[in-house]
Order: sequence, then C-alpha cells, then structure tokens
Amino acid sequence: MRRIVEEAREIPVMKETDVIVIGGGIAGIAAAVAARRCGAAVTLIEKSVCLGGLATNGLVCVYFPLDDGAGNRLFGGLTQELLHTTIKYGYNTLPDCWKDGPARVENPTGRYQTTFNIPAAVLAFDELVQDEGIDVMFDTAFAAPIMEGNTIKGVLVENKSGRSAYLAKVFIDASGDSDLLYRAGVPTETDPENICSSWTHEIDAAEFDKAYAAGGLVAAVPLRWFGLRPDVDNSHAVIPKFDGTDAAGRNAYIRLSRKLMLDYLKEHRREGYSFLTYPTQIQTRMTRRIIGKKELNCTDAYAYVDSSIGCVAHCMDNPAPVYEFPYEGLYSTAVTNVLAAGRMVSAGGRGWEIMRSIPQCALTGEAAGTAAALAVKGDGNVDHVDIKKLQEILLANGNILHCTKEMKEKEINFNDYHKNAKASGGLGIKIDSLSYDETGH
Ligand SMILES: Cc1cc2nc3c(=O)[nH]c(=O)nc-3n(C[C@H](O)[C@H](O)[C@H](O)COP(=O)(O)OP(=O)(O)OC[C@H]3O[C@@H](n4cnc5c(N)ncnc54)[C@H](O)[C@@H]3O)c2cc1C
Repeated sequence: MRRIVEEAREIPVMKETDVIVIGGGIAGIAAAVAARRCGAAVTLIEKSVCLGGLATNGLVCVYFPLDDGAGNRLFGGLTQELLHTTIKYGYNTLPDCWKDGPARVENPTGRYQTTFNIPAAVLAFDELVQDEGIDVMFDTAFAAPIMEGNTIKGVLVENKSGRSAYLAKVFIDASGDSDLLYRAGVPTETDPENICSSWTHEIDAAEFDKAYAAGGLVAAVPLRWFGLRPDVDNSHAVIPKFDGTDAAGRNAYIRLSRKLMLDYLKEHRREGYSFLTYPTQIQTRMTRRIIGKKELNCTDAYAYVDSSIGCVAHCMDNPAPVYEFPYEGLYSTAVTNVLAAGRMVSAGGRGWEIMRSIPQCALTGEAAGTAAALAVKGDGNVDHVDIKKLQEILLANGNILHCTKEMKEKEINFNDYHKNAKASGGLGIKIDSLSYDETGH
C-alpha cells in the first residue's frame, strides 16, 4: 500500500478537564455519570448525534435481564437506574413483579428486562447527562491519543471545526471497539467473525389494531430482524463473517445488512406496510477487547473475587450461573491512566459474550467512572486506585458486589421457575428466514 507522511501542524486545545470519556453508548453514559457524581469534571466525546450507541442508534432496544433467572436481582446502581431511564418517557415490558426493582422475587412471572422506545430513551439520556453537568461533544470523533511515555495526556478529535485537542488526567474508552486503548498501546484481542444482523421497526396497517389490542405499541410496531445466523434461520447457507475493526469489513457488513432489508422490502411491499427505522450504527457484537491485568473467570461460577465490581451472568441462561467481575479487568498496566468500559473489557470467549450485554456494559461503565474519579484524586494511575474505596462507593450506590446465599441456592427452585419463565412472553421481535448465497444475490 502506498503511504504518505502527515504534516505536523499546530491545533487548538479546546479543553483541559479531569476525565474524558470516549463514546456515549450505555457504557459511556454510565461512566460519565458515575465520574461526575464522584466530583470529577467530565467531557464525553460522541461521534454520532445521539447517546445510547448500539442500544439506540443500533436499534438494540431490549435491556437484557438484571436478574439471574431464579428470582435474584444481580444488578443495582446505575445499571438499574439506566434501565428505568430508558422507559421513563416511553413504554416498557417489565413484568409487574420487577417494576419496583426488588432484591428478590419469589416465583417471578418473567425476567427483569424490558423493551424500550428508542426516541424516548435518547431524550431521557440527554436530560440525564445535562442534569448531571456533563459536557457532551456530539458529532465529534476521537482520532488519536497524545502520549507521553505510557501515559495519555490528551486526545485528538475531528469535528466540523476541524482537528483539535482535549486534555485530561484520566481517560475512559467506551467506544465499543477499544479505539483509544488500542491506539495508546494496550494489548487487545479482535474477533473478526461478526455475523450480519440488522433490525427495523415495521408497521402493518392490516394488523395494527389487532396487535395493539393484544400487546400495545410493542406488538403493533414490532421489530423485524434481518440476519444471517445459522442457529436462527439460514442453517444451510454459508454465513459471511465480518471484522468490525477493519474499514473494509465494516463497509461490507453495512452493504449486506441493507441489501437484506431491501430484498425483504421488495418481496413484502404492500399497501399499508412500511419500515419505520434502520440502524445508524453498525451492529457488530464483539470487535476488539482489552487483555487486562485480570480476566473474567467463567470456569468458576459463584467464586469469591476479592476485587469484584459486581455480579454478571449470561443473559440467555435461565437460570444463569453468576460470576464476579474483577476491577483489574477494566485496565492494563501497559498504559497508566485509561480504563475500558462496555463490550471491550477483559473477558475472552464465553466471558466476552457475557460482558457485551447492556446491563454488563452499564456495570463496567459505572465502575470505570467511579475508579477514574478516584484516580483523579490520587496520582492519576488507575492501577493505584484504592479498590476497597471503589467497592464502598459502588456498594453505597446499590451495586451487588458478591454472590449472595440466595443466588448460590437457586437450583432448588429451578424447575418451578422454568415453568413460569416459559409462560412469560417474548420481546416483540419478528424473524423470517432470509435467503443468501455466497455471490450476494
Ligand atoms: C445485533 C445485536 C443485538 C443485540 N441484542 C442485545 C439485546 O437484545 N439486549 C442486550 O442487552 N444487548 C444486546 N446486544 C449487545 C448490546 O447492545 C451492546 O453490546 C451494548 O449496547 C454495547 O454498549 P457499549 O456502550 O459498550 O458500546 P456501543 O453501544 O457500541 O457504544 C459505543 C459508542 O461510542 C461511539 N464511538 C465509537 N467510536 C468512537 C470514536 N472514535 N469517537 C467518538 N465516539 C465513538 C459510538 O458512536 C457509540 O455511541 C446486541 C448487540 C448486537 C450487535
């Protein structure tokens, strides 16, 4: 490939602050709010024009369970608060037994999860960050770190005003793809095997009244899923896989996902039928994650982790074994002053699958934000944060750091619960089989 040298140039320093968060998805929102509530001045840099990331721009409007599938709530703090923020001005599908967020529910009639209205969630996120006094820069993309040895001094960003610099004491990468961490020199792992997955909301005038009477707007304006996924529909097709860290891979993914939508529309277009939305963020699940000082251990469910920041579980397991996530899974000692938050924390294999769900992203966001604020008060090194102090704050904010006796005893009620869970209803997502051949026709 031909290469050229970019010329050095003088650029303006737009701001010097305590904490800079890159990316305003669920993890970035939680990180920014947590750092601010601990007294740090925070700037959040978001390349799109909305907060929420995959959960809004990516149309993933299903906040996965906060419970373990056996009646125990696993998450509190900002993870629980943000779930309720998503539904503050819109509909929800929360079972009654979880509506007030109890710590434990005997014989639950469904999971502590909800589908939410995306515009209402975006507006509620705006209100939240504004009320907290967080400086949000929309339409501004992180481009490169400014390094001094193994410490980040600032970030270069690009927006309509051109290229500029933002300086801070501590940084949180919540870009979903480890953009800052990778470029700053933190060791990472990539997953080049993202499947194609695209969602829209649809409306069908012929079915609207009946569907609305049966299930309200969630049923009357359902999500339609277009994907190529062997376990769901295209079991006899060769499924293409995409690298979400590579520009060519991302473009191929985007082209295919929209082609699947268009093919479907051509086939199903009729009077009274319409698509209402399309994703404006590429829907890659796992792209690049850090190899941190410690890793989530998924071989030892319910094991006590001294530095735990919270309990996590696989959203699809029902009931789900519970693991404790270590603080040291949020950073690498390769760079002194940056933390990871969201779907790129230190967890490989099945652990990565666990940590990419919305509740886990909110949890690591809250822990990273709290730790960043503590690091600002200290020497700026995230490895020197007093973990006991961090845990004290997380606990006081309602987080559940360690597995409880009730969580460990869940097997006792497994059969009863399983019966109830099956009767609890779906998430309002419609899936048809899509055809695909390797030539893309
Ligand atoms: C198809 C699909 C279905 C899913 N289904 C569910 C589900 O039903 N329930 C569930 O709980 N989870 C689900 N997930 C997982 C979940 O939605 C995401 O993993 C989670 O929302 C990620 O949150 P995040 O904040 O870590 O990252 P993201 O949501 O990706 O947010 C990253 C943010 O950073 C911004 N950004 C990126 N790069 C830059 C840059 N260079 N400069 C500035 N800003 C930048 C982006 O614009 C974005 O706003 C699904 C994921 C996919 C892909």
